[in-house]
Amino acid sequence: MATESSVSPNPFEVAQRQLDEAAQVMKLDPAVHELLRWPLRELHVTLPVKMDDGTTKIFHGFRVQYNDSRGPTKGGIRYHPDETIDTVRALAAWMTWKCAVVDIPLGGAKGGIICNPKEMSQGEIERLSRAYIRQVGRILGLEKDVPAPDVYTNPQIMAWMADEYAFLKGYNEFGVITGKPLALGGSAGRGDATARGGVYCLREAGKALNIDLKGATTAIQGYGNAGTFAHKLGAEILGLKVVAVSDSKGGIYNPDGLDYEAVFAHKQETGSVIGFPGAKSITNEELLELDVTVLIPAALESVITAENADRIKAKLIAELANGPTTPDADKILHEKDAYVIPDFLCNAGGVTVSYFEMVQNAYDYYWEESLVHERLDKKMTAAFHAVHDAAKEYGVHNRMAAYIVAVSRVAEAVKLRGWV
Ligand code: GLU
Repeated sequence: MATESSVSPNPFEVAQRQLDEAAQVMKLDPAVHELLRWPLRELHVTLPVKMDDGTTKIFHGFRVQYNDSRGPTKGGIRYHPDETIDTVRALAAWMTWKCAVVDIPLGGAKGGIICNPKEMSQGEIERLSRAYIRQVGRILGLEKDVPAPDVYTNPQIMAWMADEYAFLKGYNEFGVITGKPLALGGSAGRGDATARGGVYCLREAGKALNIDLKGATTAIQGYGNAGTFAHKLGAEILGLKVVAVSDSKGGIYNPDGLDYEAVFAHKQETGSVIGFPGAKSITNEELLELDVTVLIPAALESVITAENADRIKAKLIAELANGPTTPDADKILHEKDAYVIPDFLCNAGGVTVSYFEMVQNAYDYYWEESLVHERLDKKMTAAFHAVHDAAKEYGVHNRMAAYIVAVSRVAEAVKLRGWV
């Protein structure tokens, strides 16, 4: 299979290279290594959608089921104009390692549709979402593959998808999609789970490195679900002083700190963080290079590269985005002693609570939010220390350590099944 992507560097080649480097360090069986370099299955779909102006527009989408040796495949669906089959493959691979590193009984998958939801009406987004399920529904199922929200998708979209799936089946099967609204079988605590899991990791990193996080200056790139909740919970739980945030339109900086409620209200009102009163405007690139203690990339892939890694000043980098750092940048950050909490560990809180949602759907009995938080904390803390300890044991950076922990678990499942 050839790789194909217009995004540079190609995220799937990045994902394969990360695995290749880990395979070498952990002396992975060559056949297991080759098997884990590729998705097991993928579906490409073409989706005709009636637009509000009466025309029909043809969209293209994907679902990649990367590896199901540890359980049904799991992963979100992204709506993005730059989506490619290779971004989806990479994200599906990272989901496989993500579920393994937090040790939940699920494999990895990802879905995507090439579209720009910012230019579509709610009705058009609903029809597109239902069209996607009509095509992809045939390979989904609570024992097979379970989608969730990701970039530019949300609980309302999950509700339309769960509803469309119910029509295909003839009955409700809530566990087939997670990140649903509470009224339709969603879980308490799913909304902020990705950021909350990252904040628990940061707390543990602070303890392990002896860095006092109370009042620690913090910059957040990206102001979607993960970025906004990182702002809120970082301040609430750890006392972080968030001095800069950004979204796709640009960033804002105030050395005295940015109040979450006020910035969030401004974004709701104007559609962006830019223009927030009292803050200086900065670019996304400048935000990454600010002299802060904590940097939280919470947007898209490949923003920390060999080109800018040397100028990154943060001591702690908590990757809430998927794939924000390229392998060359990883080496530079490691040499500079920056402590990276790698993406598929740092942002695993979302899928962990998705797993809790599946469990609650299966027995149709719902947990208090405090129980969700407690169980999430336990999972994230255990995963953080497994990775932190492996980094010391093997003398490698944290991403490599996270790969070693996750890939060993998937390799064990593959071998026990007799696939290799
Ligand atoms: N899209 C989220 C992620 O990348 C959540 C996936 C899920 O809950 O299945 O981790």
